[in-house]
Amino acid sequence: MAPDIHPNTEINSDLTVKELESDLENKILSPDLNETDDHYICDFCSKGVPKSKNPRIGQYLADNVLNNTHPKLNYIESNRPLIQLATYCEECSVPILFFPCIGFSEVRIMTTITEDWKMKNIEVTDVSDRDDGIDWDPKIVSEKISTVSFEENTLLLGNELWGPENIFTVYDSAFESIDMGSLINYDGTIDPKKLGRARKEYRNFRNKMKKSGYNRRKFSKHVRDKG
Ligand SMILES: [Zn+2]
Repeated sequence: MAPDIHPNTEINSDLTVKELESDLENKILSPDLNETDDHYICDFCSKGVPKSKNPRIGQYLADNVLNNTHPKLNYIESNRPLIQLATYCEECSVPILFFPCIGFSEVRIMTTITEDWKMKNIEVTDVSDRDDGIDWDPKIVSEKISTVSFEENTLLLGNELWGPENIFTVYDSAFESIDMGSLINYDGTIDPKKLGRARKEYRNFRNKMKKSGYNRRKFSKHVRDKG
């Protein structure tokens, strides 16, 4: 069950839950989609989701990004208080944020998608303002796992490493057997017993991607091939 959030709850000083819901209602799911596209790709499990099914799905929004070369950064700098950083399929859409991060305003919404890619019946189901969440540093976690600088790793992964939750889902998808929820403790530290294996699995993933050149299609294939 989705937690019940009061419409006047503040997401940050500029925005309430009610305002965000009405701002997003009837907006197009993603500016990258054309009306001729018949499906989008889940940002967690890489499954294709057809719009014809009118899925009820979750999105992840945040007030900032980790990567300052992010193409959507200008959205924040213009007038949008939050940007949509991930869209999931029905199975991956849970009403709560996966690993909310102190320092970021983050929101989970649930929405129904129409045949013309519009978002309807928007419901904010989780809010974590800047002072809330887990005290983890996504860049440091990324560097500990990848053993290269955050900037170097974002070059490999194109623009995937956007907000804190994207770090969570991208690494979780890249690993063969480790899951991020058990690798990072709730105090923000990494389980030292699992770190070695996580590094090895991520190194294998990097080598695989380097060989062919990273792109979204190859990443999706990697995730799907894991079964
Ligand atoms: Zn999915």
